[in-house]
Amino acid sequence: MPGARPSNGLRQDHWCSRAPRAILPSMRAMLLDRPGRPLREATVPDPEPGTGQVLIRVAACGVCRTDLHVADGELAQPKLPLVLGHEIVGTVSATGPGTARFRVGDRVGVPWLGWTCGTCAYCRTNRENLCERARFTGYQLDGGYAGLTVADERFCFPLPETYDDAAAAPLLCAGLIGYRALVAAGDAARLGIYGFGAAAHIVAQVARHQGRRVFAFTRPGDAAAQQFARDLGAEWAGPSDRPGPEELDAAILFAPVGALVPAALRAVAKGGTVVCAGIHMSDIPSFPYDLLWGERVVRSVANLTRTDGQEFMRLAPAVPVRTAVEQFPLREANEALDRLRRGDLRGAAVLVPAVP
Ligand SMILES: [Zn+2]
Ligand SMILES: [Zn+2]
Repeated sequence: MPGARPSNGLRQDHWCSRAPRAILPSMRAMLLDRPGRPLREATVPDPEPGTGQVLIRVAACGVCRTDLHVADGELAQPKLPLVLGHEIVGTVSATGPGTARFRVGDRVGVPWLGWTCGTCAYCRTNRENLCERARFTGYQLDGGYAGLTVADERFCFPLPETYDDAAAAPLLCAGLIGYRALVAAGDAARLGIYGFGAAAHIVAQVARHQGRRVFAFTRPGDAAAQQFARDLGAEWAGPSDRPGPEELDAAILFAPVGALVPAALRAVAKGGTVVCAGIHMSDIPSFPYDLLWGERVVRSVANLTRTDGQEFMRLAPAVPVRTAVEQFPLREANEALDRLRRGDLRGAAVLVPAVP
């Protein structure tokens, strides 16, 4: 039938005119070929913005613990090969068909939530973070460990001007998910934070700004992390294998360690909530019902909604949240991931493609 063959010269011309650009490999990227292997530095064709997408020149991309879970094979079925990274700060360098929100030159942030269906029961009830068909940046969609990326403009955020590119990157996941976890902790006056990395260092500042008391629980013996927590306003910092100096009203777990769930339940008062904020956690050991009794609650926080992002991008400069970042050239992404795995970072690692 006539419709089966390329039906118009226009389309053909369109393809021909773009073909040289698509074929010439020109963008540097760190690729995950297979979980469990180090990322591979490669030169690949520039991505092209599709309908509703913008092309973004990456200025900075944060390194998140979720990237480690994807790289290590703890999250099932990533796109492969994959460009990791979902804390992307960059400048719009081209716009695809049907876009209207941003102009070339605008600075934008790209978070973990890359696309939602808009029609499932979760999307229709303001819970797009739970969308049945959601796609995530740096997991099912290529992310920001690269010179360029494309993103659906509806899921990008304008960023507060007071942050430079590298400083803004951790706001996009550590900040956003941390904020969602803090909201899930309710109005707890005494807040415990387990695992004092990128997310915790932001949440601690917001919590102090809200007048809460912060207690930081780190790996036993991690004096540097404990000092970091005290520097950011924690009134107490100590090892996670023992209770703190007094009962907590809520605890947020950023460390992906299931054994901390019963430990945190032991540390919270009756009616207290334990929020698990990571996407992956080792198995939670069994524990006596006594630890849950007294209306204690264990819950998780999954992904983010665009509303979370809008709220947090207003809140962060008002606190003001100051991010501690350590910058790495893009080609040192494996080193940055290893440092995160070892807990050997003060704040957040950020990849900066422009640094040679
Ligand atoms: Zn949906
Ligand atoms: Zn993340």
